[in-house]
Formats: sequence, C-alpha cells, structure tokens
Amino acid sequence: MKDLTVIVDQTVALPDAPYQARHFIDGSFVDSADGRRSDRISPSHGVLASQAALGTEVETEAAIRAARTAFDDGRWSGLTGKERAQVLNRVADLIEANEERLAVIETLESGKPISQSRGECGGAADLWRYAASLARTSSGDSHNALGEDILGVVIKEPIGVVSIITPWNFPFWILSQKLPFALAAGCTCVVKPSEVTPSTTAMLAEFLLDAGLPDGVCNIVLGFGNPVGSLMSTHKDVDMVSFTGSTAVGKHITNAAGDTLKKVALELGGKNPQVIFPDADLENAADAVTFGIYFNVGQCCNSSSRIIVHEDIVDSFVDRVVELSRQVAFGNPMHPDTQVGAIVTPQHQAKIDGYVQDAKAEGATISLGGGALEVPGVGSQFYQPTVVRDVTSDMAIVREEVFGPVLVVQTFRTMDEAIALTNDSDYGLSAGIWSDNVHTCLEFSRRAQAGTIWTNTWMDGFPELAFGGVKQSGQGREIGQYGYDEFLEVKSLVMRIGQTRAPWVKPLAGRETS
Ligand code: NAD
Repeated sequence: MKDLTVIVDQTVALPDAPYQARHFIDGSFVDSADGRRSDRISPSHGVLASQAALGTEVETEAAIRAARTAFDDGRWSGLTGKERAQVLNRVADLIEANEERLAVIETLESGKPISQSRGECGGAADLWRYAASLARTSSGDSHNALGEDILGVVIKEPIGVVSIITPWNFPFWILSQKLPFALAAGCTCVVKPSEVTPSTTAMLAEFLLDAGLPDGVCNIVLGFGNPVGSLMSTHKDVDMVSFTGSTAVGKHITNAAGDTLKKVALELGGKNPQVIFPDADLENAADAVTFGIYFNVGQCCNSSSRIIVHEDIVDSFVDRVVELSRQVAFGNPMHPDTQVGAIVTPQHQAKIDGYVQDAKAEGATISLGGGALEVPGVGSQFYQPTVVRDVTSDMAIVREEVFGPVLVVQTFRTMDEAIALTNDSDYGLSAGIWSDNVHTCLEFSRRAQAGTIWTNTWMDGFPELAFGGVKQSGQGREIGQYGYDEFLEVKSLVMRIGQTRAPWVKPLAGRETS
C-alpha cells in the first residue's frame, strides 16, 4: 500500500536449523512418550521456526507428580528466602547472557520485531531480579492486643503446586510475570506455553538447570490446551492455576477448576480506551495513541484499541494519528528498525479483517488501511495500520478485542460522557487519560473501571506495580507485592501464653456420669 513506511530488508540472519523444544520434567529434557511433535512455521519468512514435543496426559501427569513431590518434601519451600533468591538471580543473569538467542526464536515464532523481542526477553531479567528480592519478604502480622495470655501471629506459606498457562503474544515476558514470583514464594510449578510459541519457555529450562533449581521444582509441558492445559486446570494435586489468555478460555478454566476448588488467577483480554481532552499535550497524546495501537501489532492485552476524543479536536487529532501511522515502520521483523511485524497466524489475520469489513458494512468509515499488507520477500501475513471512524457503541469492532493494528475512534463532550463510554465495556484492564488539568486526570482515574489507569502516558509498567483487570479482564494481580502475595496462603497461629485456658467441660453438681 502506498504512503506507508515498509521495511523489506533484514540484518539479522535466520537460524540455520529449527529450534528443537522438549518437555522438561523432574530435571530432565524428554520427548513425548508417543513421539509426537508439532511444527511451527514462522508468520514472516514462512520458514520452519521450531519443532516441539506435543504433550499428552502422560507427560502432564508426570510433570504434576514431580511438582507435587518436590513441594511436599520441602526441597524448595524449605530453603531460606535468601537461597531461593540466589537461584532466581542466577536465572536472571543467564537470561541476559542469552538475550539474542531468545529474541531470534521469539521473533520467528511470534512475528514481532527483533528490537521488541530483545526488549521483552532481556528486559524480563528484571522481573526475575525483582521477584528474587521479594523472596526475602514473606512476613505476616502479629496481634498483641488479644489479651495478656494470647499472642496471635499470621504467617504466609507457599500455596503449593501452581499450574502456569501462558499465551503467544508475549511468551517470555508473561512467563516471567508469573514463574519467578511463584518460585520466590516457595511454590513448585508446571508450566505450559502456547503451542504457537513454545521455544523460549523450553529454552528457559536450560537456565533453570544451570542456575541450580532443584529437580521437579519447575516442570514444563509443551502442547495444546487440550489435553495439557485441561489436566493442569483440573488435577487434584494442583493447588492454583495462574492463567493468561483469552476471556473465553479463562471462563472455561474457572469452571473446570471449580470441581477441586483450586485458586484461579486470570489475566484476560481488554478493550482499553485512551480519553483525549482538548487541553492535553496533543502531540504527545497522538504519539502515545499510535504506540498503543501498533505495539506488538496490536496483539496486546493492553492495546489501546479505542480512543475517546473530545468533539472539538477529533478531526485534527485523528488526522495527526493517521499521519503518524504512515511513519510507523511495518515489515521485516528481522530488521532492528522495524516497529510492527507479522500477524501470528493466517486464521488470526482473517479474524482481524473480519472485524474491519463487518464495521465497514455497518457504516463505519476507514480513515486508513483496512486490509492485508504484502511485504516483498517476507510474505503477506501482515495487516495495514488501520483507523476506523463513525462507529457506534454496539458494533463488534468497538466492543470486542480485535487484537490487531486496528484503532476505533469514539467522541465525547463532557466528562460524564467520557466516563460512560470508558465503562461501557465487559472488559476493565486499562484506561488512559490525557489532560493538563490534574483535577480532570484525578476524577477520571477514580471513576474509570480498570485495573490500571495511565495519565498522560500509555503502557509504562514497572515490576513494583501490580497488574491485572476488573470485570471480564480477570481476577487477581500479577507482579509487585500484590502479585507475589497471590502465591502465598495465609495461616493464623493462635497461641496461649501460660496455663490460662478455662475448661469448657464443667461437671454439674449432683449429676453422675454414666
Ligand atoms: P488463548 O486463551 O487461546 O490461549 C492461552 C493459553 O491457554 C494457551 O497456552 C492455550 O494452549 C491454553 N488453553 C487453550 N485452551 C485451554 C483449555 N481448555 N484449558 C487450559 N488451557 C487452555 O489465548 P491466546 O490466543 O494465546 O492469547 C491471546 C489472549 O490473551 C488475548 O485475549 C489477550 O488479551 C490475552 N492476554 C491477556 C494478558 C493480560 O495480562 N491480561 C496478557 C497477554 C494476553
């Protein structure tokens, strides 16, 4: 398509051979008992990126058994926080030392640009180091005002065996938002990456082994949601499921886990708005909107897939966003200047286009894009930067997660209208406000229904700040102290000091026991 910035050439070489990913169970790399494997063809270039063992109930059972045994015998939970932290810090060092290896396979399997894979994989080391610091903070409360002869103590213990199920859009980052925190807390784990992007998770097993994590503490099973993820969500020996993925599968897991009443933590989808008031730094806001919709090809739970713009500025603001969209470098993910890469699968590309074509048929206007993008020499599994106007609140493109580089524009006149549009969603992951007036920002922040509110910025994140959603965007929190606490169970100790307990049984005078 004309007037877009498209990068065709590449500077990062493709690997000589596909990555061979195997399960990691009880400290050993193993193939599936039935020998089955799956092939992952890269979204760009169309090459065989990896071959991964395809797990069944056999491998999943073995992994859960190993994690259960490792938890129950205390080989990990019995270590001091300091000892656990040392292992996690060593993993962080190994992640950094292997950043390029991780990044190349992450880009090949997911289609995201190499610069973002480097940021995601190398940057994840910081999550491991932060989690390591939390391993030494498992403190509780003491209650010293319950009476002279009572001391109450609330302690925290690791919850037990945790199933970790992750999606394809940030395979290594999301794994690192969960696994080091669970390990820091003293839990043991069974991990299943998406079948589409198994390799960086499988590669992590090498680092766990080299860092000295005891056998059985982290087990990785590769394969499909059914049967691997299903068994991980229903098995009686699993105490908690930590899931990131679609709202539909999150609901399914919640129901499936109900039979054994295990704890379920969910990080699900979003339809996240940025609200633009006229007094904002509009140039900065337009840039953040452009970043918010094209980062990770819009395949991002935090994608700001809708903007709610004040009517007085909507035309000029959208014109600027369209202008910036043309300057964003789409194309070959193996070039470091590329900012937007390929769509993860052909099926997903068709789904994205379906939303755009349906909206068009229902009367929406396409201000930019609206179709596939051919990148010469790399393929056509790309989608143009797309801006959609004249939408109504009932359109699927406004209500549902498109998960692509597709921005929809809504408008408002008053704060009440902006809040009503923001909250008119089944989702509640994140929301943003752009204004130079602190009162406007604070009022919006308090009234918007979302787990994260960004004011005059978008998608800044820190390991210290809890992340998660409200409504159908999920339950529970990840990262930060709150995320760490999700992997801990609370136990109350009630201790009497001295022999002061009054007897409950009081023999009645004149009655004999028979
Ligand atoms: P998905 O729900 O299709 O799959 C996620 C994982 O669940 C995969 O590993 C998959 O194999 C597994 N799975 C599928 N069926 C299962 C079942 N019946 N039982 C157990 N596991 C099963 O999601 P996806 O397409 O991989 O990822 C995209 C979705 O993830 C989007 O909706 C996005 O918003 C969401 N997401 C949310 C966050 C967040 O933090 N809130 C972050 C990233 C992605």
